Amino acid sequence: MFNEAVETLARPRLRELQTARLLRLVSYVYEKIPYYKEAFDREGIQPEDIQSLEDLQRLPFTRKSDLRDHYPFGLFAVKTDELRRIHASSGTTGKPTVVGYTANDLKLFAEVNARSLYAAGARPGMKLQNAYGYGLFTGGLGLHGGAERLGMCVIPVSGGMTDRQLLILQDFEPEVICCTPSYAQTLAEELQQRGVDSGQLKLKYAVLGAEPWTETIREQVEQGLQVSATNIYGLSEIIGPGVSQEPVEEKGGGSHIWEDYFFPEVVHPESGEPLPEGQEGVLVITTLTKEAMPLIRYWTGDICSIYYDTDSRRSHVKMSPILGRADGMLIIRGVNLFPTQVEAVIQEVEHLQPYYQLIVSRNGALDELEVRVEVAEAFLRSVGFQEITEDHILENERIIQLQEKLRRKLKDNTGLSMKVTLKGAHSIPRSEGGKLQRVIDLRTG
Ligand code: ADP
Repeated sequence: MFNEAVETLARPRLRELQTARLLRLVSYVYEKIPYYKEAFDREGIQPEDIQSLEDLQRLPFTRKSDLRDHYPFGLFAVKTDELRRIHASSGTTGKPTVVGYTANDLKLFAEVNARSLYAAGARPGMKLQNAYGYGLFTGGLGLHGGAERLGMCVIPVSGGMTDRQLLILQDFEPEVICCTPSYAQTLAEELQQRGVDSGQLKLKYAVLGAEPWTETIREQVEQGLQVSATNIYGLSEIIGPGVSQEPVEEKGGGSHIWEDYFFPEVVHPESGEPLPEGQEGVLVITTLTKEAMPLIRYWTGDICSIYYDTDSRRSHVKMSPILGRADGMLIIRGVNLFPTQVEAVIQEVEHLQPYYQLIVSRNGALDELEVRVEVAEAFLRSVGFQEITEDHILENERIIQLQEKLRRKLKDNTGLSMKVTLKGAHSIPRSEGGKLQRVIDLRTG
C-alpha cells in the first residue's frame, strides 16, 4: 500500500480521527466562510453544537447551486495569495464550478491519487500514460501529481489524439494508463483495427473513471488492452479524481473512499435522510481537512451505496459503482432509468458490442426510449451482411431474434418497454478522449 498505516487504520481510530477533524472543520468554515456562518446561524447551530460524526446530520447540505451562487470564489476560505491552483468543471449548463487549492490541498490531492494508483496495481518506477485531459479539468493534473508522488514516471499526453496515444503505448512502453472508460474502449478498438497485438505491449493496468461504467466495458477493455482495469472516482468540488479507488485484488467489490479526508454519507434522494449501509441513494461528502474550499455535506448527486468490507485489508469504507448522476436519470413513462442499467444488460446478450446510445423522444403525451446497439461484425458476416440497415433487419430472422432477445431482457431488468435498433459495426459515436455522452434527449429544445 502507499500509506499502509492510514489505509489499514482500525475503524475506531479512524472514527476518532474523523471526529477530531470534523470539530476543527466546523469552527474553521464558520469563521472563514460567510456562507457557512449564515447557513449555521439560520439553523440555529453553533460550531460547539457539533461534537460527533452523528451531529454532522444536523447541518444542511451544500449543493452545486450554492457554488454557482457564489461564483467564482465566494466559498473560498483563504485569501488569493494562499491559493496555489484553481480548477473548474466543464460547466455544460452555464458557468463552470470553480474550485481552489492551497499547498496543503495539493499535497492531499497527490496523496489520495498515489494511494489510488498503488491500489490499482501501479508501483514506483513504472510509467503512467496519463490520457486524462489536462487543463481546468481535474483529471489530468490530479493523476499527474499522484503518479509523481508515488514515484512513477508520467507521460502527460492528455486526452484525445488517438494516433499519438497508440504510438506512445507501443514505443514508450507504459505499464499503466489512465483515462475515461469510454476512451479506453476507443484505444482497445483502434489497436485491434490496426492489427496491433496488445499482448506485445507492456501495459498491465488501466485506471478508469470520470464517468459511470459497468462490467460490460471492463470486459472489453481488459481483453482489448490485456490489462486489469479498475475504477477511480472523484469530483472537482471534493478534490478531483482520487476520492475513491477500487483495489485491483478486489475487482468488482467496490472502491475504497479515502475516509481520513472525505467523510461519506448516503442519503435518500428526496428526503435527504441518511440511509443504512448497503442501501442505494445520493452520495454526500464532507471534506475533513481541505483548506481552500472545504465543503460540508456536499450533495454529489451520484447514486451509489456504501458498505464495510471486512474481508479487505484496507479499513476504509467502500462504495458501489456509480449507477449514474441523479440529474442524468431518465424518467420514461414514470419509470426511472440510468443508462448504466442498459449497459449492464448488453453484456448478457451474445453478439452485441458495448457501444450503445439512448434516444429519448416524446410521442404525444408519452415518452419513448430507443436503444441503439452495435452488433458484432463476426455475427453480421455469419448472417451474410457487411452492414445492417433497418430494411435488412426486417428481412433477417436471426437479427430479429437478437433484437427481440435484447428487448425482452431490457424489459425484464428495467420494467420498461424500449424500442431496440441494432446497428452495424462502428456506427455509434466513440469517445474521442473525454467523457462520452450516450443519451440524446429530443424532448428538450
Ligand atoms: P463535471 O461536472 O464537469 O463532469 P467533474 O470532472 O468534477 O466535472 O465530474 C465529476 C463527476 O463525474 C462525478 O460527480 C460523477 O458524476 C462522475 N464520475 C467521476 N468518476 C466516476 C466514476 N468512477 N464512476 C462514475 N461516475 C464518475
